[in-house]
Amino acid sequence: MMYQSFFTQELERLRHEKRYRTFLNLERCVGEFPYAISGDSKQKITVWCSNDYLGMGQHSQVRKVMIETLKRSGTGSGGTRNISGNTYSHVALEKTLSDFHQKEASLVFTSGYVANETTLATLGSCLPECVFLSDEKNHASIIHGIRNSRAQKKIFRHNDVSHLKELLSSTPLHQPKIIVFESVYSMDGDVSPMREICALAKQYNALTYLDEVHSAGLYGSQGGGMAQDLGTSNDIDIIQGTLGKAFGLIGGYISGTKELIDFIRSFAPGFIFTTSLPPAIVAGALVSINYLKNNAQPRKQHQFNTNYLKKKLEEHGLPYLRNESHIVPLIVGNAQKCKEVTDRLLHHYKIYIQPINYPTVPVGTERLRLTPSALHTPQMINYLVQALVEIWKDLSLPQAA
Ligand code: PLP
Repeated sequence: MMYQSFFTQELERLRHEKRYRTFLNLERCVGEFPYAISGDSKQKITVWCSNDYLGMGQHSQVRKVMIETLKRSGTGSGGTRNISGNTYSHVALEKTLSDFHQKEASLVFTSGYVANETTLATLGSCLPECVFLSDEKNHASIIHGIRNSRAQKKIFRHNDVSHLKELLSSTPLHQPKIIVFESVYSMDGDVSPMREICALAKQYNALTYLDEVHSAGLYGSQGGGMAQDLGTSNDIDIIQGTLGKAFGLIGGYISGTKELIDFIRSFAPGFIFTTSLPPAIVAGALVSINYLKNNAQPRKQHQFNTNYLKKKLEEHGLPYLRNESHIVPLIVGNAQKCKEVTDRLLHHYKIYIQPINYPTVPVGTERLRLTPSALHTPQMINYLVQALVEIWKDLSLPQAA
């Protein structure tokens, strides 16, 4: 086997398909978000594709407690939770998350990806004869968790409750079932029919597993996510989330009953066999969550900015996908053109948006995923839309139908 030539050949294939990913080197500067410095050119650019939706990644209270904790406790946690990596902050964060999601208990992981992968893999491999019912647009971490469990899986068409019902009714009632879905889908920004899914789960005695990665902190009276907003928290058995988006840090978690959380704590390799999050991160997450629980203003501003951006895109006939969330997908429909749009935005307008291509989205639906934050101003929104209008015209891209 010619190893190096194999790697080169595969990378060449990606380049040929216009799917080779390049990253922009950024320097985030405190107090400046959504501005950042582009590493190569040292120019100030406006970021329009960050998941730091509420700007908590630079919040003064979060930074303060992190610096204090760093000075007091040092950098790393020193071990797995089992072996010397369990701090007061970890325990306090889990209690806070449980209150936040109105659940009995919670468990923190090193990322949202790990939380999904290891929880689903553990449930699927341990529950006898378990069957997953998984939405076809679920995130890669969910797909990998289910796959790694080696349990049976049935994929239902995206947000299609009738298809889910059909699959449930063809599964013996006594067989353990887990319905896995997201509240806000990360690439289309559409919202799942949570109430209907929960009703089916009850009818067919299935557990519900909800990924709230793109909604925790952003929706609900206290930021508890879409389940809180819809009043369905009690009907969801396992809520999963990240500390890396609305809360501005890194890490992931699940919340559920005491028994379920203790079970995952005791059996999940992705929890047991890895060093726990650094105390400063955990302390920062605690402050960030409490801040968002008690302050609705960032959420309101975020919604206001989202609606304003959508209104402006609408006025100019730019083809964005309609949805009920803050994720605004602007469809280009071609990988090469998508890259051309984002290159022009960066070089001519100092606007940074990463193109989204296959396999993240299907071929032919390549897009810009616009994520207005609570800190974008109306001027920034107007400037972005004006730039898009000019580029759309220059490249003769399709207008909204
Ligand atoms: N679930 C969804 C829907 C996501 O979009 C992501 C990340 O982008 C994750 C899970 C993983 O979360 P994290 O970035 O904390 O690993």
